[in-house]
Amino acid sequence: METKLYHCPSCGYRVNAIGGTDRDGEVRCKTMVCPTCHAVVDAVVARLVPGETEFGIPIDRWHSVPARCPHCDGGALTPWPLDRPCPRCGGEMDS
Ligand SMILES: [Zn+2]
Ligand SMILES: [Zn+2]
Repeated sequence: METKLYHCPSCGYRVNAIGGTDRDGEVRCKTMVCPTCHAVVDAVVARLVPGETEFGIPIDRWHSVPARCPHCDGGALTPWPLDRPCPRCGGEMDS
C-alpha cells in the first residue's frame, strides 16, 4: 500500500496514511480517525476469504470486519473526512 505523509500546519501533527481505501494482499484498509488516540490510522476494514467453488472456480469474497485502531485496539473509529481534518486540532492537513 502506498502511504502519503500528511502534515498539520497548525499543530505540527504528522502521519503517514493511505488517505482513503487500499488493498494489501488479503486485507483492505481504510484511513480512519481514532477518537481515543486522536490519530489518523489505517485500519483493516475487510478480509479476503476463499469462498465456495462455483463451476470449478473458487470465488473469493471480501468480508467486512469491524475497524479497530492498530494502536489502542479501540473500535470507535470513524472514516477520515475528505477535507482531511487534523485529529488533534481540527485544522486542515496538507499532503
Ligand atoms: Zn493539527
Ligand atoms: Zn486508538
